[in-house]
Amino acid sequence: MSTPGKAYGPALERAAGHARAWLDSVPDRPVPPRVDGDGITASLDHPLPDHPTAAEQVVDELAAAVEPGLMASPSGRFFGWVMGGTQPAPLAADWLISAWDQNTAMRVATPGTAVVEEVAGRWLLDLLGLPASADVGFVTGGTMASFTGLAAARQQVLTDVGWDLDRAGLSGAPRVRVLVGAERHDSVDLCLRYLGLGAPTVVPADRQGRVVVGGLDDALAADEGPAIVCLQAGNLHSGAFDPMAAAIEVAHRHGAWVHVDGAFGLWAAASPRLRELVEGYESADSWATDAHKTLNVPYDCGIAVVAHPAALRTAMGVHADYLAGFQGAGDPFEKVPEMSRRARGVTVWAALRALGRDGVAQLVDGLVANARALARGVSGIDGAHVVNDVLFTQVCVTFGTDARTRRITERVLADGVTWMSGSRWQGRDVLRMSVSSWSTDAEDVAASVESVRRAAAGT
Ligand SMILES: *Cc1c(COP(=O)(O)O)cnc(C)c1O
Repeated sequence: MSTPGKAYGPALERAAGHARAWLDSVPDRPVPPRVDGDGITASLDHPLPDHPTAAEQVVDELAAAVEPGLMASPSGRFFGWVMGGTQPAPLAADWLISAWDQNTAMRVATPGTAVVEEVAGRWLLDLLGLPASADVGFVTGGTMASFTGLAAARQQVLTDVGWDLDRAGLSGAPRVRVLVGAERHDSVDLCLRYLGLGAPTVVPADRQGRVVVGGLDDALAADEGPAIVCLQAGNLHSGAFDPMAAAIEVAHRHGAWVHVDGAFGLWAAASPRLRELVEGYESADSWATDAHKTLNVPYDCGIAVVAHPAALRTAMGVHADYLAGFQGAGDPFEKVPEMSRRARGVTVWAALRALGRDGVAQLVDGLVANARALARGVSGIDGAHVVNDVLFTQVCVTFGTDARTRRITERVLADGVTWMSGSRWQGRDVLRMSVSSWSTDAEDVAASVESVRRAAAGT
């Protein structure tokens, strides 16, 4: 045997040791990296070695070189961008996925992991209240999940007007109008570029960033032909949700396909207390979400859900002789852009198996409770003003002037107790907090509020 199983042991044991040392250090360490990219380059960027090195030495070197440049994003005091932590069961499952090394493209080739993903998909549809007949694809993230949903949308709306996209391509095709709210996530525009659909038609949004339904109706009525409406569940700044039921009713009345970008917000549907935020969203045509945000599985894991499997499989399936007999059977490769890929959906199974229905609801409710506690704490600081309605996991704060807000943001980051992103929202600078980690607790919230208070003192 050229690679006996025993050959892996020493390197895996070192990796487990380094992983545990890192995870053990997270609760108490400062959140920001100690060394910036240039510092890591200085210690790591050697010329390509000429000769082999033992695997365990490689692992040790890697851990030592990288550790100072790690952001403690799994920390309960990390509130940057929208980045979740990772829970124990999905992390351990992710290690197994790598060890198994199953190319989860076809059920016949890798039945073990393919079926775990099928089960995870069914559980998700149940948990999120989406149609049981929908297709679920496991992709790298929210962007590729939206790409997948919008590719199915493009396929369907062009087929509906008699255009053969697969044969004729987009050149000379009827124009597909894509309507989005003014505060959609930038990744939607990126997906439209990938798909050759150009810039979207932008519909006004309200003070919380929600699309204005009357404006959507007017924009749809202003023209005809194939149309796609992209709604948002969870605004990056406010956490707000587009009014799903009303917007979908209007869009469907005009014959449009409705896609929902719910990268972190779709998980509101898993909580009986929060479900009203997405009410009516189940009548959309496709949905995109991330498991690596709110569900707290390791990177990378996004989920595309499409209510019309035929459209998805036409858009994503491949028609190759060597795959003959597998097409149309609902194999994983027919639901995602990739052919070969890791069994990333297994992490979703592990998270759902560990949490159960109640556990997911408690996870999401807990994030929202902590966001509200942060908002309450910070709004007690001199000059601070929480500018969004904190209905979900996001909090945006201003401190009088833009200059003061920016100064306080810099001082918070330099302090290192907590990590929050600065941003601009609706014409002003904000300090932005996203509560996305299962590990945040009341102590983390209190320590983070105190850090902001110190940063604000004397500014
Ligand atoms: C994060 C995010 C995305 C993109 O997801 P990735 O996983 O980074 O590709 C899209 N939409 C919203 C609302 C997001 O928060």
